[in-house]
Amino acid sequence: MTEVVATVGLNYPSSKLGRKDLIKLETEELPARVLQHIAVVCAGVSIKRVKNYQVDKKIVVALPELMVGQARCRNPSCITQFERDVVTRFRCVDAESQRFRCAFCERIFPLNELELIA
Ligand SMILES: [Zn+2]
Repeated sequence: MTEVVATVGLNYPSSKLGRKDLIKLETEELPARVLQHIAVVCAGVSIKRVKNYQVDKKIVVALPELMVGQARCRNPSCITQFERDVVTRFRCVDAESQRFRCAFCERIFPLNELELIA
């Protein structure tokens, strides 16, 4: 996604949240990869598609059950550190505390300690 016009708005009134921020992107569709990344970095955010000045579609992105190729394992002994061709896989073991288990070394990490792959 390149050359997309983006507008950022802060502190809009919200009946549900009190205040909210928004990012407006002038683009056709958000690629699945971008939606997956949004779900990991800001789960719970809502995305609205506007067509002809009306909300056409609304989704609330949830923390994924499984992250494939989206993060690097922090365990220095994990095989994914040595075999760079191996696609990492992390399964959510606790959504509330946002903890994920590496499918290869089985170590559990809080989401904020994983290095996300852009
Ligand atoms: Zn690992």
